[in-house]
Amino acid sequence: MQCGLCCKIYGDRISPTPTDLYTWMVNGNTDVLRYFFGQMSDGRIINCAALEPSDIGEIIEIEMRDPGSGGYLTVCPFLKRVADSRYVCSIHEIKPEMCCNFTPWERRQTDFRLCRALKR
Ligand code: SF4
Repeated sequence: MQCGLCCKIYGDRISPTPTDLYTWMVNGNTDVLRYFFGQMSDGRIINCAALEPSDIGEIIEIEMRDPGSGGYLTVCPFLKRVADSRYVCSIHEIKPEMCCNFTPWERRQTDFRLCRALKR
């Protein structure tokens, strides 16, 4: 329904899979990768835009962060408002697997009362 609500509420916790990272790396999606930081097996924290596909196996944890400040985000940076109460995902074609697989219109995945789809 393009309300953007799930992306606003859960979007600061987006975590890409190794497959997401690999796809973005080989396709040169550094504009997406730069919003993610990997904690490596040797303790270093590295911006994913600076990693190679061969580094993926060394990543222990991935966090979404502001690429400029390194601080945590409160809303997914890929969510774009296109009209009053209407939002789209600016990386829809290549968005992370967890976003592709999320089905908020199914009860138990989303329980908040503001969900328009659940009111149908
Ligand atoms: S990547 Fe797209 S679908 Fe996923 S939370 Fe962000 S705006 Fe929503």
